[in-house]
Amino acid sequence: MTQPILRISGLHKRFGDHHVLQGIDFDVQPGDRVAILGSSGSGKSTFLRCLNFMETPSAGRIELKGRPIGRPDARGGDAVRYTQAELAQVRRQVGMVFQQFNLFPHMTVLGNVMEGPITVRGMAAARARDIALRELDKVGLAHKADAYPGHLSGGQQQRVAIARALAMEPDVLLFDEPTSSLDPELVGEVLNVIRDLAEEGRTMLLVTHELGFAYHYANKVLFLADGLIYEAGTPDEVLKHPRKERTQRFLERFT
Ligand code: ADP
Ligand code: MG
Repeated sequence: MTQPILRISGLHKRFGDHHVLQGIDFDVQPGDRVAILGSSGSGKSTFLRCLNFMETPSAGRIELKGRPIGRPDARGGDAVRYTQAELAQVRRQVGMVFQQFNLFPHMTVLGNVMEGPITVRGMAAARARDIALRELDKVGLAHKADAYPGHLSGGQQQRVAIARALAMEPDVLLFDEPTSSLDPELVGEVLNVIRDLAEEGRTMLLVTHELGFAYHYANKVLFLADGLIYEAGTPDEVLKHPRKERTQRFLERFT
């Protein structure tokens, strides 16, 4: 058995009285392409955000390549505590791409992609520039290096956001509905980039409603409901032959 890249055990997240994640257990193996489905409000974003500690888990354990991130609160609360050094490490190893791109509008495309390598990885500007141009080339946007995000289409902005995540040379990529805010004609160019990454063997978790894409490019599919992984399996098992009633009802909406 290879060591999982991410080992998630007993993950809980509460917002006040709202118990959004109620004990998620899941291992992500190297090269896994995990599609995450679920109704709006089922906790898909919260789940991804806990994995790179944009949200602090309320309880549970997350191991990144065998190393636990944080530890239970020593004062007896159930929150997970971590150091700033651990946080920087996680941010570097776990890349995130958001629905709304979240590029810095006052920085050029190149500046956006260089920012992480310089500030988080402590890289010299010249080397960060080389890496940024390499990753922009990979998403087909090296020629837009000097443009500002506001002058790009949504699809191009999202490809820049993917290049920005790649420039950190992460072990895992998290995509949170990366095509949901795009006009339909721009969805394909972004999915093509994600497909290329999948075919390279990158490890990724992808929240998406693009079921056709999930069917072809994921190797595992999770359906979240009631704060838990309600059903999990191969794309064929979950998307074509769901066993459980809530999964069936959810999928009916797409047919
Ligand atoms: P999904 O991505 O599946 O639509 P989310 O993870 O965004 O769901 O949200 C799950 C639930 O948690 C929702 O009811 C949402 O309102 C709530 N929630 C998410 N983030 C916060 C927050 N920062 N504070 C309070 N409630 C939140
Ligand atoms: Mg969401």
